[in-house]
Amino acid sequence: MTLVYLGLVILVIALVLFFQSGRTRKAAGLPGGRVIYTDTRAWSKQEKPLTDSDLGLTGKPDYIVEQSGRLIPVEVKSGKSPAAPYDSHIFQLASYCLLIERTMGKRPPYGIIHYQDRDFAIDYTHELEMTLMDILAEMRRDERRSSVPRSHESAGRCAKCGFAQICEEKL
Ligand code: SF4
Repeated sequence: MTLVYLGLVILVIALVLFFQSGRTRKAAGLPGGRVIYTDTRAWSKQEKPLTDSDLGLTGKPDYIVEQSGRLIPVEVKSGKSPAAPYDSHIFQLASYCLLIERTMGKRPPYGIIHYQDRDFAIDYTHELEMTLMDILAEMRRDERRSSVPRSHESAGRCAKCGFAQICEEKL
């Protein structure tokens, strides 16, 4: 990869983590998520992005659900659900949990990934938070480097990548 820009949007985090997913899952022991029923009528759309300038992190969950005083972020994915949520989706959701805690003062106990056909609850554990913080630190280090090597051998990923036009490592 040519450059990773930390300050852009959480989508970037999701993409980078998607490229690294195999390695990350082994290292993190990520929660696989549990299938839950949700009532979408109780969801309120999140209009404004949440930003933490100390972390250089900005992102906007699709919805934030208020449940008995708790705030639960919801990320909506257009496709059908995989057997278990992708690591990239889990970290994207964890980023929203982190941003909610930092900007709204309440720690979400979990977040929801809403696929076309089912929903998964992902517990926002301290282990998940620590792994996310490590990844953010790694991305900050990468941001200062002029070149970051490609972490995969998939031409298909490059074909769909938003950086493809400027990337010197493109397959
Ligand atoms: S074009 Fe390929 S190697 Fe370059 S950033 Fe995108 S996915 Fe990574």
